[in-house]
Amino acid sequence: MGLIVQKYGGSSLATPEHIRNVARSVAAARAQGNQVAVVVSAMAGETDRLLNLARELSPLPPEREQDVLVSTGEQVSAALLAMALNGLGCPARSYLGFQLPLRTDSSHTKARILSVGGEKLEHTLRQGIIAIVAGFQGVTEAGDITTLGRGGSDTTAVALAAALRADVCEIYTDVDGVYTTDPHICPKARHLEKIAYEEMLEMASLGAKVLQIRAVELAWKYRVPLLVKSSFGSNRCTWIVEEEKIEMENAIVSGITLDRNQAKISVIGVPDRPGIAYRIISPLAQEAINVDMIIQNASSEGFTDFTFTVPRGDEHKARPLMEQIAREIGAREVRIDNGIAKVSVVGIGMKNHPGVASRMFKALAEHNINIEMISTSEIRISCVVNAHYGELAVRVLHDAFELDRSPQK
Ligand code: ASP
Ligand code: MG
Repeated sequence: MGLIVQKYGGSSLATPEHIRNVARSVAAARAQGNQVAVVVSAMAGETDRLLNLARELSPLPPEREQDVLVSTGEQVSAALLAMALNGLGCPARSYLGFQLPLRTDSSHTKARILSVGGEKLEHTLRQGIIAIVAGFQGVTEAGDITTLGRGGSDTTAVALAAALRADVCEIYTDVDGVYTTDPHICPKARHLEKIAYEEMLEMASLGAKVLQIRAVELAWKYRVPLLVKSSFGSNRCTWIVEEEKIEMENAIVSGITLDRNQAKISVIGVPDRPGIAYRIISPLAQEAINVDMIIQNASSEGFTDFTFTVPRGDEHKARPLMEQIAREIGAREVRIDNGIAKVSVVGIGMKNHPGVASRMFKALAEHNINIEMISTSEIRISCVVNAHYGELAVRVLHDAFELDRSPQK
């Protein structure tokens, strides 16, 4: 018994029949004696439909107006779910972002939450009424409607759970949780019962699309226990919790990710002088091109090679910048390769266990997969390989770290 925040994604609310099922599941949580606040996304496909509509009238719609438009998707599903609950004899009331208010800054289409007013909701919940909150939307100090970026309802749910000091934030979606890797790539992928916030952040930013990254960051900051569950019948779920809540005997590596969305740029034959890294990277920063991995070779006879990765697509913007810099600093040439993939092993266990890198490199070597770049963090090792071998690398590493087996308890 306690206070639960539940969030339902668009696929769980796709049709009136789906909404009725969600209403039953919300009613069941309340019948167990809980106070329940629910955050909803727009019905499946609705946000895209609205965005396409906007583009028919304007190639680049004003962002303020775009937010007024797309926020309606969540308004519709919040009202419908409240109606469905009332139809089941369960009192429920819907709230839009501005009514709470959920205050954001004014960066339209990707606003950040500044504060969440919880009083109205607390009052509603204390009366035994279910509160339904439209996700994804907020309001600025000046009263303008904003949205939180695609997938932003996850972040609404976590922010609400933090403000209400909820016991748990349950995210209902079309998958039953987080897996050791993408089951489409590796059929041996195993479902995970628990994962640490930090691991989930690495997995999310590396391409596991279960949750909006900012939602995980917020949950970590406010220590909101997150539960990812399917609203389509599976009984399995994944807890995303503090590292301390995960047994130390847990696996050293928890998951493997594949990122096919990067391109590699090399500036070859760079005269090795102080300031070259700055000269090469600063024009990219000015153009807001995100640089991920960076490697500078040990220099030989005063020359070095400088290699880095950027999000795929940005290499076209980066090429002329790099060619100009290469001329200015007297580098030999610029090479671009967009046939790469980044495969990473992730796990908090790495903090205390040496040998993960060696095991990773051995497995790749045994399958003749060439490593082009390497980078590490405290809980992750990433290798760039030829894109053709990306999926094979995932399977090979999944075997090498025996991720198909549950860790010894
Ligand atoms: N409806 C919004 C989207 O499609 C927000 C969300 O679903 O979380 O991105
Ligand atoms: Mg989503």
